Amino acid sequence: QTPIINDANNSTTTTPPHVVLVPLFAQGHIIPMLDMARLLANRGVHVTFITTPVNASRIKPIIARVHESNLPIHFMELPFPCAEAGLPLGCENFDLLPSREPFLNFFDAIRLLAHPLEQRLRDLVPRPTCMINDMWNPWTANVARSLNIRRLVFHGPSCAYIYCSYVFQLHKIYETVTDEFEEITVPGLTGDNDDDDVGESFKVSKAHSSGWSNLPGFEKIRDEVLHAAETADGVVMNTFDDVELMFVEAYKKVVGKDVWTVGPLCLYGKDDDLSARIERGNKAIVDQEKLFGWLDSMEDNSVLYVSFGTLTRMKVGQTLEIGSGLEASGVPFIWVIKDVEKSPAVEEWLEGFEKRMSLRSFVIKGWAPQAAILSHKAVGGFVSHCGWNSTLEAVSNGVPMITWPQFADQFLNERLVVKFLRMGIAIGVKKPMFYFGKNEISVSSADVERAVRGLMGDGEEAQERRIRAREIKGKAIKGMEEGGSSYENITMLVEYIKYDPCKGTQGAKSLMNL
Ligand code: UDP
Repeated sequence: QTPIINDANNSTTTTPPHVVLVPLFAQGHIIPMLDMARLLANRGVHVTFITTPVNASRIKPIIARVHESNLPIHFMELPFPCAEAGLPLGCENFDLLPSREPFLNFFDAIRLLAHPLEQRLRDLVPRPTCMINDMWNPWTANVARSLNIRRLVFHGPSCAYIYCSYVFQLHKIYETVTDEFEEITVPGLTGDNDDDDVGESFKVSKAHSSGWSNLPGFEKIRDEVLHAAETADGVVMNTFDDVELMFVEAYKKVVGKDVWTVGPLCLYGKDDDLSARIERGNKAIVDQEKLFGWLDSMEDNSVLYVSFGTLTRMKVGQTLEIGSGLEASGVPFIWVIKDVEKSPAVEEWLEGFEKRMSLRSFVIKGWAPQAAILSHKAVGGFVSHCGWNSTLEAVSNGVPMITWPQFADQFLNERLVVKFLRMGIAIGVKKPMFYFGKNEISVSSADVERAVRGLMGDGEEAQERRIRAREIKGKAIKGMEEGGSSYENITMLVEYIKYDPCKGTQGAKSLMNL
């Protein structure tokens, strides 16, 4: 733990701005919040980052680097109440859930952190001036209230998804829908209307916009999340104006409070050395020298990267179809198969597959150093489930995508990539699959082969996609550089965090008053 923020009995004399970050314990939520922690600390804000023993052990190298570099980040480990919530011991992250059944128990366990968190924060010196909580941690509202500190909500998904699901809930539109796939006009969007996918003509179905909130049993959490977002003092989003301006503008109007778009957060640390980038989020399972040596030997833009994030679980049949499609495409590839997707049938099949593909592939069984792979010049395409972090990582590195959404915000992210940014090919799935979904094959090997050839080939459309991807990469980088929209928003966020209502110190009470 860093010595910079001490407990009360060990008090310091200075009172720097101090923010508490409370992520949801899922890699896709922890990783961007860690980037945000480093970014804010780098701009002079003291950060307390809430974690648990298992989650902290995954990011041990990052914690060590933070300490080495003297960044003022304090990692506060709270024991995770597995037993009390009926979870297996050590099940401290969504990706460790053994089945669908204890899904809601996980939310119960997180809620139980309210009391210990409040106690530990009460003792901190300097006292926190602000809290930023993941949207799925609505219980933090009471903690912030009882500590009398301001609270901002952090939205990890795209603004397109946050906006559409929010206005549909606000206008009670979901309640009247009988056909989940009926396309409904999204209120409040404006655009030039030259295209049938923008502005007042933008339509989306309940199935593609409602995410987890509509799953049975989620009603209570959904209402809590909505309420905690409404009572928050402001909103922080991991996105940037050039990627989805229409939604950002509409969202700002409808929430009527400060909204800071500060992304893509993955670009923070893009110049770190390779070993630091490899440690992002978890310990990578591969032989780093072998993998990056192989990538170095490949032609620019020739390798396809295939990964479906941390929660999607491909079943045996679907896994084999993906492999056959990749084999038939003739394209060199890196394919990530998670531990939970391994089974005797998959292992047996992979034996022959890996032998046949040994010269043109790398199969990573476990955690892959994704951000580092995507930033390599040999990588020219990404088959992705369109998780928002993966999408932003593709965008930030100018890598065109084959989009294969599964659930949550992923269908709307696909829309952004394919229709708005025009840097992707949709594989063609329409039906959301919850991550413990059925053993269905939704995409055949022929579809995989067709999409891969289309993306990685030399046709006119493929070239245009590459150009578009490079353009949007330039905009993402510019946004995070001094003078860029996200950079300036981070400056204003820091000003906001600096303001201490108890002391009336410098800083901005609200952007709205600036
Ligand atoms: N990730 C990684 N290695 C893996 C799998 C995932 O580094 O083997 C990272 C990926 O780069 C991204 C995050 O985990 O930053 C996944 O977030 P995303 O929003 O894309 O998807 P989710 O897992 O939440 O569905």
